[in-house]
Amino acid sequence: MAIKAEYIWIDGTEPTARLRSKTKILPDGTTPGDMPIWGFDGSSTNQAPGDQSDCVLRPVKVVPDPIRGGDDVLVLSEVLLIDMTPHPSNTRAALVAVAEQFADAEPLFGIEQEYTFFQAGRPLGFPAGGGFPAPQGFYYCGVGADEVYGRDVVEAHLDACLQAGLSISGINAEVMPGQWEFQVGPLAPLEVSDQLWLSRWLLYRIAEEFGIAATLDPKPVKGDWNGAGAHTNFSTKAMREGYDAIIAACDALGERAEEHVKYYGADIEHRLTGMHETAPWHEFSYGVSNRGASVRIPWQVAQDKKGYIEDRRPNANMDPYVVTRLITNTVCSAAG
Ligand code: ADP
Ligand code: MN
Ligand code: MN
Ligand code: MN
Repeated sequence: MAIKAEYIWIDGTEPTARLRSKTKILPDGTTPGDMPIWGFDGSSTNQAPGDQSDCVLRPVKVVPDPIRGGDDVLVLSEVLLIDMTPHPSNTRAALVAVAEQFADAEPLFGIEQEYTFFQAGRPLGFPAGGGFPAPQGFYYCGVGADEVYGRDVVEAHLDACLQAGLSISGINAEVMPGQWEFQVGPLAPLEVSDQLWLSRWLLYRIAEEFGIAATLDPKPVKGDWNGAGAHTNFSTKAMREGYDAIIAACDALGERAEEHVKYYGADIEHRLTGMHETAPWHEFSYGVSNRGASVRIPWQVAQDKKGYIEDRRPNANMDPYVVTRLITNTVCSAAG
């Protein structure tokens, strides 16, 4: 039977790009390595003017399609100009260069993707007549219909990711009702980023089946409600072997804090307030076990004197191609 290939790409919407996809029918027997390049109308995705609208999709990662099943596939693609150079919105190309440059350092990333479900214009679990649910306190890792909203969607998403062969390492309910997290990794920078984009697409697509919208809005409800982040856990071979490299990595991140925060997701100043388990966006700090620091050294890592660090600053709406590039470049170039 013919293969349905769902080509998925990242558009040019600013300040936060969106995912797009469309289906190509391919001859029976087309292998992952044979997925053809394709085109799309860039004038409808903030990627081209109407009189020069053609953009190119080049497949970069092909996985089984857990929704359609059978031989159907999801084809994550990067966007090129018609001269086959990276489109200005293509942040993947710059990561490829940095990942190659520092491959010997063997960087690994584990990303915690937080997100929030919305239905009928309010977070899932917020009362239909307006107003607010009971204050935060029992929702994080909660159980029971008075604390947990959307678990059926979360389970379906987890199954879909695993069937697609993505390296999900866990899921949990978050601090605000209707807010959840999944973790991808640890994986090399390019792989974790490709997988995070694919798992985000699956999240939107699976939630759509339930009539629910998932959002990566970093501060979906103003006031005394947690924002949504994408804590980015990072190590190099040296960090996995000794504590000096752990401290050196924290110091290197401190040196370039301002530049990093600028590219850690739109509206970061609304989330990194210094409240709700965050450090203020304009100050840099690190500490063992400290969830109020910019960068946390997990207690186990301080105990073992080796392991990884957690950059708690990236927003849920960050671009992993950008964040993993910045961290790899900053930490590995400081290590010399
Ligand atoms: P918490 O919620 O306590 O901050 P999680 O369990 O949600 O932590 O996430 C921890 C993340 O750290 C996981 O994504 C995991 O893959 C990642 N991780 C574990 N070891 C390493 C490592 N050596 N290098 C990079 N990431 C790692
Ligand atoms: Mn977590
Ligand atoms: Mn979390
Ligand atoms: Mn975390």
